[in-house]
Amino acid sequence: MIHRECVNSEPTAAAALERFFIRHRDRLRFVHFGMFLVFVAVIFVPLLQPDPPGDATPFTDFTTFANYALWGLWFPLVFLSVILTGRSWCGLFCPMGAASEWANGVGPRRAIPRWLRWEGTPVASFLVVTVLGQTLGVRDHPEGAAELFGGTMAAAVLIGWLYGRNKRAWCRHMCPIGLLLGVFSRLGVVEFAARFRLPGGEGYTEKGVCPTMIDLARKTESRHCIECFRCVNPQAKGGIHLELRRPGSEIEAIRYHHPNAAEVWFLFLGTGIALGGFLWLVLPQFQDLRQALGEWAIGHGWLWLAKPGPSWLMSVHPARHEVFLWLDFVLITGFMLAVMAVMTSILAILTIAAARLAGQGNGEASVARRFTELGYQYAPVAMVSLVIGLGGKLFEPLGFTPLGMGGVHAVKGTFFALGLLWSIRLGRAILCRQGVGGARRWAALLPGLLGSVLVGLGWWPAVFGL
Ligand code: SF4
Ligand code: SF4
Repeated sequence: MIHRECVNSEPTAAAALERFFIRHRDRLRFVHFGMFLVFVAVIFVPLLQPDPPGDATPFTDFTTFANYALWGLWFPLVFLSVILTGRSWCGLFCPMGAASEWANGVGPRRAIPRWLRWEGTPVASFLVVTVLGQTLGVRDHPEGAAELFGGTMAAAVLIGWLYGRNKRAWCRHMCPIGLLLGVFSRLGVVEFAARFRLPGGEGYTEKGVCPTMIDLARKTESRHCIECFRCVNPQAKGGIHLELRRPGSEIEAIRYHHPNAAEVWFLFLGTGIALGGFLWLVLPQFQDLRQALGEWAIGHGWLWLAKPGPSWLMSVHPARHEVFLWLDFVLITGFMLAVMAVMTSILAILTIAAARLAGQGNGEASVARRFTELGYQYAPVAMVSLVIGLGGKLFEPLGFTPLGMGGVHAVKGTFFALGLLWSIRLGRAILCRQGVGGARRWAALLPGLLGSVLVGLGWWPAVFGL
């Protein structure tokens, strides 16, 4: 048995937080219920409202407010919050996870099937939801947002109702953003750590109290912990306790925290598909491509491509002068998948190069293991890109201050530069722990630096405009 240092018995911030949440743990259901009402209001009330006038603001029109609350506040802040509070959104606030768990209490509680436990399931869920979000125009049309978020809520309830016993099978295995929050939570300050850790590495069990099936005595990683506080008991000598740590420390020492190749591939794929979802909207070349493909399709008798598709699959809103054709659906989907493939290939090739260079510098372990560990260095730059690119509305109010748009670009640019520097620092620390030193370490760092810069160049229009 490996003994970890016990927590200091003196009052600390972590101990105070523990006490607070344990005291109020039973009241979380009221928070969840309140958040459920907010969810219903933000997602469904705009369907009952007339379209906002052109000069509407979040202060004068509910639909505009709901849109800003979703894309300007919820989306970027949930991702940013993992740095300071881990997956607190999941455990403390998320109405979807709570509804899924509630449904579990009244369902048949079947064993979690193998297809659901497959590591590719949350990746597929993320890709489908991200692409559908673009083809439905979820940012511009309340109907699209209602379909996507309402459908996801229905799926969460169904999966929760069917599978597991007092568990959140949905949160662990299928939530489209759970995996992403999990990767980024490895960067965070909060850790729920075992006081006495059994050897054998990370485990999965449906037997314990953990709703996300973490084998608590073997817990080494943060990503599946939704911070429900159910396993925390300050009076117990063993068990789990809350620790506050230096941001990024889990990834710096990733080799001791269950590095996982599937997670790294997901990080690459997720970065790529999100970039594709942003670029098709802003690149003028996309419209040129659409025009050329449309002419080619009509010239070759592919007339179905020029017809509008069903409104459950794509944006069909004639009153708002937006009707997607099958051509748009095929192009948007194809473009996003192509950008994803290119970005994933670039990051994979650069990470293989880094892993090989680390080997030449006497880096420990196999190339595959070094590849997986080094893949995590992209986590900060990927997170910052996602927040700036797809959650850019967060920064828009700055444009109405004396700082103007120049200030918005400066803040975004600074933010991105910090993400880039953090990625480089993580890469250096990972190489250090692999035993790569001196000039060799700097050489092995260069591919990662190039990869981070390329991610940044991809998001350049989001940071500085075209
Ligand atoms: S994993 Fe998904 S559904 Fe579950 S609590 Fe987190 S965000 Fe909500
Ligand atoms: S490790 Fe503890 S706090 Fe984290 S999800 Fe499991 S039971 Fe909840």
